Parts: sequence; structure tokens; C-alpha cells
Amino acid sequence: MTDVLVPKSMISDPHRFGGVDHGDCVHGTPIVKDGQLIALDAPTQTATKMVLPRLVEPHCHLDKCHTVQRLKNVGGDLHHALASQRADKVHWDEDDIRARASKGLKEAHENGCGLIRSHVDWGDEPAPPLSWSVLVELAEDHSGLQLSALTSIEQWIHPEFSETVGKVLEFTDGVLGAFVHGHEKTRAGLEALFATAIRHNLMLDFHVDEGLGALHGLEQIADVALETGFDRPILCGHCVSLIDKPSHEVQRIADKLVRAHITVCALPMTNLYLQGRTDGTPDRRGITRLKELRDAGVPVVVGSDNVADAFCPVGAHDPRAALALACVAAHLDPPMGDWLPAITTDAARALGATAATVDGAHLADMLTCDVTHTANLLSGRVPLRAAPDTLM
Ligand SMILES: [Zn+2]
Repeated sequence: MTDVLVPKSMISDPHRFGGVDHGDCVHGTPIVKDGQLIALDAPTQTATKMVLPRLVEPHCHLDKCHTVQRLKNVGGDLHHALASQRADKVHWDEDDIRARASKGLKEAHENGCGLIRSHVDWGDEPAPPLSWSVLVELAEDHSGLQLSALTSIEQWIHPEFSETVGKVLEFTDGVLGAFVHGHEKTRAGLEALFATAIRHNLMLDFHVDEGLGALHGLEQIADVALETGFDRPILCGHCVSLIDKPSHEVQRIADKLVRAHITVCALPMTNLYLQGRTDGTPDRRGITRLKELRDAGVPVVVGSDNVADAFCPVGAHDPRAALALACVAAHLDPPMGDWLPAITTDAARALGATAATVDGAHLADMLTCDVTHTANLLSGRVPLRAAPDTLM
């Protein structure tokens, strides 16, 4: 068996796993037992490939993806994108939604994803939209696909909405998601939303503070989570306005996030496209405080978000590309292995799933890449391949 490198951050029990130090990886000869990579023996040759668990896509939009070619007026801020995408919904019949979502899902799988969470626009009515039904059907055929209803926070104040949607989500294994963006009744909406999630035993996922300037939704979410003692996973996406808060406020909010066990999802592709718009080249960038949050003990994950739609005309369902962009946008310095949990183990935990590491994993659940450095792994220039075909 050929020697391999394994990023240290992808090993749960380094003392038992063995191998020889090689930067932010260990190097050795794989010991496989019953189809599982259980340890590394002493190296016998130069390693030419890296082994890692399947990746996790914690935040995308399979209902919206691949619409850019037929959209008019793409280009503008968040509100412009919302209007442009809303106008496209006249095309959203069953075949259209299934074809585009299947294409997005295929891309995610080809880019190494084993677990994917997609948001699905819910719309104005309590009854599920057509896109929810189509995506639920798709999820029945793809066990690693989770769906999160994307609602507006103020909708939850209405008892008929919260009770109907809560029941549908429980019945279809959905996640309760909401858009929180300086709404007047955010606090009341959050209280009703958390009460629904507790009643129906649902995980939570927010699009929160998706803009620069004074937005306070993230702290309000943490406050309600702490007050209610909510104990299911909570993922907060975007959190861009943290960049505009002074460090003592960031610290105060981060402390609440840690205590409430909230994970923050950075979404650099869409945020860099939509936030900080001027008439010319942007001089402000939209990105959450990845470094400060992580230093404070908040788990930080990274997602692809929008792909070829009104919110981002480019993009890809590719966690490596999203993390590489975060590396550039937020100045995440090597060793990049330290940030791999953002698209693997920490992302899995944020989605309420088991955090698969390399030690003890089945070969069928692992990937290899012909690189010898974690920075090269993230460059995306070398494809990921299924481990059973390439490790033996
Ligand atoms: Zn999103």
C-alpha cells in the first residue's frame, strides 16, 4: 500500500493513529482493517497523496441555482438580488426545479460532498411550496441531503403559519430556517420560531445580518437561544455586520454564541458579490469575523451559498473553493489544515451529524487528493477522488 498524508485536524485520536510528523499532516503507510483506515505504520516512501473525509456543504440554495442564464438585471445589492430572483419564480415548475437542483447536487457530489444542506424559499403561505416537495423527493434519493425552509422571521408571529410549517418540517425531516435582517418584529418572531422548533424538535438555520452596517439579529438569536435553553444545533449564516462592530461588541456577542452553542457560517462568495456596493470597485468587503469568532471559541464553518443565480452569477457547489475564497477574503493563513474542520467535522456537527474523521472511517466515506500540502489541497487544481479506487 502506498504511503499517504493525513491532515492532523482530520484525526480524532492522534496518539493511537500513528504516523510521522509532516507539517500540519502526519505521514505513514495505511493500515486498513475491515475496510476501515485504523492507523498509519511507519513511512516507507515519499507520500504523493492526502487522505481526508468526505466534505460537508453547510449552506447552499438548490432551488435557486443555475438560473442566471435567464435572469434579467443581475448585478446589485441584496435587495436587488431578492427582486430579480423573485421575478424568476414564474419559471419554477416541477421539471425546472428538479433539473436545476439535480445539477447542483451532482456538482456537490463531484466536489467531494457527502453531506449537504440546501435552503428552500418557503414563500408567503403556510402550505409548502412546490420547490419544497420536489427537493424532499430528491432528498429521499440522496441520504446526505438536508433541507432548510427559508422563511422571513416575522412570519412566525402568526400562529397558523408557525403551527403548519412546524408540522410539515417535522414530518419531512426539515430544518427551520429564517431570514433575519433588521425586521421590526425580530424579537417576537424569534420567540415564536424558537417555541415552534422546541415543540417540533427542529434544528435551526438563520440567514442573519446579511449586510454591512448596524444590524443586531445575531445577538438577538443568541439571547433567545440562551433564554429558552435551546439544545438542538443552531447555524447562523452570513453575520456580515459583525465586521462593523467594535471589538468589545464582537467579544460580547461571541461569548453569547459560545454559551448558546451556535455555529457561524461564513459565505464569502455571495457576501463579496452583494455587500459593500458602490458605483465603482468596492472599497469595503462583506465577510464575517472568522478569526475573532474562532479565537473566542465559536465554531466557524464555510459554505458555497448561491451558485449561478441572482445572488451570485458565478460560484460553484464546491466547499474547497469556498474555503479558498475565505482564505483570501479573510486572510486565513497557513497551515490551512487548521481550517479544514470548517468544511468537514465542524460543518457536520453544525448540521447535527456525526463528525467523520479519517481514523476509523470506512474507505468508501473518504477521499484522496494527489497533493502533499494542505494549501495545494485547497487550491482546487487537483481533483478529489474516492478513496477505495485510489488508496489500495
Ligand atoms: Zn444563503
